[in-house]
Amino acid sequence: MSSRIILIGPPGAGKGTQAARLAEALSIPAISTGDIFRANVKGETELGKLAKRYMDAGEYVPDEVTNKMVADRLSQDDAREGFLLDGYPRTAAQVAELDRMLAEAGTELSGVVELTADTDEVVARLLARAEKEGRSDDSEDVIRHRLDVYAEQTQPLTDIYRERGLLREVDGLGEVAEITDRILAALR
Ligand code: ADP
Repeated sequence: MSSRIILIGPPGAGKGTQAARLAEALSIPAISTGDIFRANVKGETELGKLAKRYMDAGEYVPDEVTNKMVADRLSQDDAREGFLLDGYPRTAAQVAELDRMLAEAGTELSGVVELTADTDEVVARLLARAEKEGRSDDSEDVIRHRLDVYAEQTQPLTDIYRERGLLREVDGLGEVAEITDRILAALR
């Protein structure tokens, strides 16, 4: 079974945790745009320097930059038979660009999972993570802004995938292992 999966959901819904577990279960690479940006920030690359300004403000990195990065990543060998995208696409322009990349490769998406969680829960989780990990975009103001940007720019994308019959909504509240099982069941 080839799996080309998108994981979508607000910051703090647990996408990163679930992406790693699903990738393992399905033997596909988990591709997190947030992780790739953070690795570039840490390595002080040109891409990292550019991305950092946006990330620290809770804004999205410009589409052209993000799209190019994802195109490069998806063209690597390990993504040929399948992949799980965590944190991409996040804008309508990114949806269009991903469609173009998939068409060019002669492939299509298998499913889009929307991991849901209410705002109070995700703010609480992100604040708890901020205390532990100290991510530079985890201050309360920036967290609130990231949630607004998500609601405005990314949440509407679920309608596009719902219309295509690809969307599976999964409750992101509960035990980690239980949520993984829910997602796998929803994809079957
Ligand atoms: P979260 O889901 O908790 O917001 P991520 O690790 O997915 O965090 O992303 C962190 C930051 O990286 C985002 O706030 C944004 O600045 C940038 N980023 C990640 N993915 C994208 C994307 N697809 N488009 C634009 N910016 C992105």
